[in-house]
Amino acid sequence: MHPPTKTYSQTHNRVNSRLQFWTSCLSDYEKMSGSETIPFLILVFLEASMAIFYHGENTRIVDLTFTLNTSTIYWPGNPEYNFTILNRQEVGNYWYEDNYFSTAEHGGTHLDAPAHFYKGAWRTHEIPVERLIGSGVIIDVTPKATVDHDYRVQISDLQTWESKYGNIPQGAIVLMNSGWTKRYPDKSLVFNSENTTDPETFHFPAFHQDAVKWLIRHRNISIVGVDTPSLDFGQTKNYPVHQLVGANNIIGLENVAYLHKVPEHGAIIFAGVAKLYDGSGGPARVIAIYTTDSSNYSTLITIGIITVVLSLLIFRFCRL
Ligand SMILES: [Zn+2]
Repeated sequence: MHPPTKTYSQTHNRVNSRLQFWTSCLSDYEKMSGSETIPFLILVFLEASMAIFYHGENTRIVDLTFTLNTSTIYWPGNPEYNFTILNRQEVGNYWYEDNYFSTAEHGGTHLDAPAHFYKGAWRTHEIPVERLIGSGVIIDVTPKATVDHDYRVQISDLQTWESKYGNIPQGAIVLMNSGWTKRYPDKSLVFNSENTTDPETFHFPAFHQDAVKWLIRHRNISIVGVDTPSLDFGQTKNYPVHQLVGANNIIGLENVAYLHKVPEHGAIIFAGVAKLYDGSGGPARVIAIYTTDSSNYSTLITIGIITVVLSLLIFRFCRL
């Protein structure tokens, strides 16, 4: 795991300032004598190399969380979200604001503690903090879920991922991307039903219990998550996946947002949840961090050589 060394905007600004520098150099180029040209070309090469090197170090941070507000989607039967302004005014010579809010645990982008469906398993405050961070394994079933709204992630989907990237790592955070994020926060699209108060009418994808059983038996994972409202698909009768993860102290994540913005492999994911005493879950801030792997030296050298050749051609053309 590598912590980020610089933000995307810092890197971006660095590249921009390099480009501006080149532009000013090129405007002076035609006035140069032959002996000045060689150092100029070396400079261009070094600048091009550095720009690409900085570009290659890009660290991206993606928020995988829907905003908690009055549109937040809860499972039917939960009380509504409440946000009440207590203070929002000038007090003497300074500004002061604060609010009161109340929410059910299981709404919007949220975490399921193992105790949610299994007596005696970890409650929210008991989850070891190292279980809240791990390697992101994104199982993209968007094409299948687009055709079959009751799709459940199969063992074969996990094996397809492994055939591309190797074994699912220890402590992984395995997340289904079904493309559901674009339906949020429209309740009838998310539950995929005209009757959003009756779970028997719901149709959305999730994990099949056999796939989760396979993950528990064969890969020592920390979290299973979905971009839909439940780890069990809409048409479930008795929530086998919830029971299974609870019995094995595996954590759940539901309504995880924007998974299409994260690579299937290579991200570190952090599932921040308030340390709620005796909770069965809670609203979560899910964040992905990954580094773009464009930093490769053969590209760097190739572009450096192209820059030099182009500069020589321009030089020759100007002298004729
Ligand atoms: Zn939940």
